[in-house]
Amino acid sequence: MRRTATLGALLLTATLVAGCSDDEPDSATKAGSTPSASAVETPSGTASLPADEDPAPDPDDPALDPALSQPVEDSVYPDVGDPSVDSLHYDLDLAWTPATLTLEGVATIELRSTADGDHLQLDLGEALEVSTVTLDGADVPFEHTGKDLVVSTPVVKDERYVLEVHYSGIPEPTAAPTTRSDFNTTGWTTTPDGGAWTMQEPYGAFTWYPVNDQPSDKALYDISITVPAPWVGVANGELVDQQEHDGLTTSSWHLSSPASAYLITMGIGDYTHTSNTSKSGVEISYWVPSDRPGLADGLEYAATGLDWLEAKLGPYPFDSLGFLLNDSRSGMETQTMISLGATDYTTSPAVLVHEMAHQWYGDEITPDDWRDVWMNEGMAMYLQGVWQAEQDGRSVDEVMDEYASFEMMMREESGPPAAYDPTQFGEGNVYYGPALMWHELRKQIGDELFFQVVRDWPARDPDTNAGRDVYLPWLVEQTGVDRAFFDDWLLSPTTPERS
Ligand SMILES: [Zn+2]
Repeated sequence: MRRTATLGALLLTATLVAGCSDDEPDSATKAGSTPSASAVETPSGTASLPADEDPAPDPDDPALDPALSQPVEDSVYPDVGDPSVDSLHYDLDLAWTPATLTLEGVATIELRSTADGDHLQLDLGEALEVSTVTLDGADVPFEHTGKDLVVSTPVVKDERYVLEVHYSGIPEPTAAPTTRSDFNTTGWTTTPDGGAWTMQEPYGAFTWYPVNDQPSDKALYDISITVPAPWVGVANGELVDQQEHDGLTTSSWHLSSPASAYLITMGIGDYTHTSNTSKSGVEISYWVPSDRPGLADGLEYAATGLDWLEAKLGPYPFDSLGFLLNDSRSGMETQTMISLGATDYTTSPAVLVHEMAHQWYGDEITPDDWRDVWMNEGMAMYLQGVWQAEQDGRSVDEVMDEYASFEMMMREESGPPAAYDPTQFGEGNVYYGPALMWHELRKQIGDELFFQVVRDWPARDPDTNAGRDVYLPWLVEQTGVDRAFFDDWLLSPTTPERS
């Protein structure tokens, strides 16, 4: 994005003084280090899928019930995802050959049909070729046009099915609906040496696996990735198994809490794994490119940052936490395994705190529609501001004055935070206005009630989705503040008056 010079200068000020959003300003990009064009040697081996030893899937297993969702058609990006599918569990068996940039995959998807119908529809990138699809073990006809994978089969509302999709190809990222400076495509991205990584907000998971790629559908994941040794593949959750065989490494990852597709991550390369532990006892893993070992030292601040966040938000909501470095220029709150570009800015303490705050706000509780991405970014940005004020020995008011100095321009450029221009996803308007709203709310109701509400919301119904239709009435009830206050901050074309 080409920002105006004035806005760029203001953003730089905000970055230096108050930290910023995931969106790295243009000027900071130039000042920070860019990802290394690494001199890593590409392994020459060809990866193939190991024999499938998984037990036969049982979609009626009650262990899948926590992944039951109520998918809705997204109001901002309706062409992605299908609300007639409620995916429960993705078992992805993947093999990546760096020399040819080829991905081979078998996706076994346990799902619920939310309606009676004659087909099931998932998203899958056009660049990937599907060889077979089975439903409950029997071959079924399918059509794969563009990114739409349509399987012809009668389905019954609330019945559960097992869909298995075999596919392969050279994955391609997809255009991102944004004008941000730090990314213009999302999904599977390859590095010059044959490594791969992915960031996929607001969508783009479909560039590497068949998926109901919308935020309102959470699912459980088991991802196993085979790559030529010594490279490894890193994904969400816990590393439950790692096998070396025939010059290949197969890493198996288990995510035990349901996640929306945009919160899934993958990194493939020559990684070194280290860890430390927060005072509260959360072990934090760091997966850092082996040719950038120094990066891990700075990341260890995450343990201190997590303690700070837990004091504000309550116990960390998941059973594992890690950071996965990649060649992007962004930070992304991928669930339990945060994805960070290997730049000075995106590995800074402020960004670590921001992405960890999202584990409560965005991941534990996730908007069911992209119109409510302010629910994620507003609180992450506010908490980052509170943290920054403490670091600097300043008042939060001072930090908020800085946010306010450019909030109006962002609102004018990209629309109100909760009614933004769909071609400008994730711009500053969804970060700073809502952060200011939280501070105004805090001043109105006092610290005690404010932080009570901040803690209670994600814990109220963890591992689910909710949008403004649930959140705002709940806030009104908890705080006694008029709905008009929130609507004003979220929907007004101009910045509301601050107290
Ligand atoms: Zn964020």
